[in-house]
Amino acid sequence: MEKQNRFLTLTLITILTCFLITLQGCGGKARPSFDADYDVIIIGGGVGGMSAAATLASNGLKVLLLEQHHKVGGCATNFKRGVFTFNTAMHLLVGAGDRVPNEGLNKLLRTNGISDKMKVYELPDYYRSIYPGIDFRVPNRWDELDAALKEQWPEEAEGVDKFHKLCADLYDEAFSIKDIFRLSGFQALLVKVQIPFKQKTLYDWKDKTLADLMDECFTNEDIKAVLNQTWVYYGTAVPDQSALFYMTATDAIMTYGTYHVFGTAQAMSDAYAERIIELGGEVKTGTLVTKIIIEDGLARGVETEFGDTYTARYVVCNTDPYQMIFKLIGEENLPKSYVQKIKGMKIANSLFGVYLGLNIDLKALGYTDTEIIYSSDKDSQKLYDTMMRGDFADGASSISIYSNFEDPVYAPPGKSCVVLHAYSDYDSWPKDRDEYQKMKEEKAWEQINLAARIIPELADPKNIEVMEVVTPQSLEEYTMNYKGVPYGFYLDTKQWEKIPNYTPIDNIFIASNWSQAWFGMGAGQVNGWRAARLILDREGIQ
Ligand SMILES: Cc1cc2nc3c(=O)[nH]c(=O)nc-3n(C[C@H](O)[C@H](O)[C@H](O)COP(=O)(O)OP(=O)(O)OC[C@H]3O[C@@H](n4cnc5c(N)ncnc54)[C@H](O)[C@@H]3O)c2cc1C
Repeated sequence: MEKQNRFLTLTLITILTCFLITLQGCGGKARPSFDADYDVIIIGGGVGGMSAAATLASNGLKVLLLEQHHKVGGCATNFKRGVFTFNTAMHLLVGAGDRVPNEGLNKLLRTNGISDKMKVYELPDYYRSIYPGIDFRVPNRWDELDAALKEQWPEEAEGVDKFHKLCADLYDEAFSIKDIFRLSGFQALLVKVQIPFKQKTLYDWKDKTLADLMDECFTNEDIKAVLNQTWVYYGTAVPDQSALFYMTATDAIMTYGTYHVFGTAQAMSDAYAERIIELGGEVKTGTLVTKIIIEDGLARGVETEFGDTYTARYVVCNTDPYQMIFKLIGEENLPKSYVQKIKGMKIANSLFGVYLGLNIDLKALGYTDTEIIYSSDKDSQKLYDTMMRGDFADGASSISIYSNFEDPVYAPPGKSCVVLHAYSDYDSWPKDRDEYQKMKEEKAWEQINLAARIIPELADPKNIEVMEVVTPQSLEEYTMNYKGVPYGFYLDTKQWEKIPNYTPIDNIFIASNWSQAWFGMGAGQVNGWRAARLILDREGIQ
């Protein structure tokens, strides 16, 4: 009897403790209530920062967004050279349109009032996959993808179904726990302990790679090569890449579709800035933040390069964590364990881009695709290592023919706008300015000649009216991302969780590529929404 009583008492204490921890949750942290100029200051006007600002302003908070560049957008901008307009980064935006209305990115854009301010159209395909001996158009819908793969590789039909199911199940499971980032303590624990039973695919695949996924579903090396070729977008070679990232991205693309934004990515960024201002927020461009003011363990505001000070009850960093820790907050203001963890994480690659304005009409010459991925070899690791060493002659190239989008912004009639991208390591570029310039020119031609295996006209200098070359150094200058890395942390099986959108300082949050919703124009906006959501929870706003 005594034993039974003791057990009952213990159970009661456990339940009560759990209940108290539950109450504490994430929203249980104190709401900063000191007087300030703004509710929230957002450092950086990339898609993450702008999505955070728009979500917060839509919910009645007073926001100030500070961007160091003379225009908003970060990677999501454009630039002009001669008669050509170049999209700095975006060749496709997943889920922006109405194929599945009010879900995913479409929902976020609608909720924040951005959809009404920008025009998108759905792209007919995902990409054309080319290797020596392989040429295959990859659709952007599940039914079309399944059919095309089965037609080309009938012996892999079962594997195609398995691949589809695994990706779709994983997306659904990940979506079913999408709010876990808002939970802490017992609530978070409760969701986590159930994952092996409720989110079985996620649990089974969390430690597996894209190579494992390919081997699980297929035997033919060509079908694997065609499907895994998106490693060229995702920042990690096939043997290292987290299967989770690939599977969720693939299902999102095949379910929600791929879109183009009329007027380049800048049109979306400008729509965001306009909406933030419409909602009573402020957007200041040309304003570099140099410091986050910390007092008594909390952020109180920021200082700019001009010596101006703005105060706020919360700060959102759309920056990389290195700038946030070592320049803005100061490592002395953060727990050593947090700093050490981030110091120990591996970063992804940067990119090397060649932007070409051509005086020929590629579409009229029969090149009708918008996106081609060309790999000179099926061994992705070999190509990754080659490019990271600074050798682009025998690597991979993503070839975007922007003038083939149904958008006259890029090139006048009869001319074309093409962008070539390869992976690149910041440290493979010389520090000496003259050597750097020389290498830029040399390497640009390596990439052009590689892409000319698919479009021979690119290799003729007479066809090139304008050429701009973008290195990791340029990306660092314009976005301030560490070593010009646009993807954040390397997405292997050890780092797929990246870092949370909250920080050890209670009122500082992260909304960038480096945080948990992964990277990309869509995921970047989700990172912004997540940072905003954590602040809204703290404010008691549903
Ligand atoms: C070449 C290229 C092609 C890409 N193609 C695609 C694509 O087709 N589809 C897709 O979905 N994704 C694509 N991506 C990825 C996508 O562009 C990024 O993941 C996304 O835009 C990142 O957004 P972000 O807001 O996290 O960061 P960023 O765009 O890096 O924005 C950070 C912003 O913060 C500002 N900032 C930093 N520090 C400070 C400071 N101290 N003070 C003030 N401002 C500061 C920067 O100036 C910048 O504007 C591509 C990326 C690149 C580089």
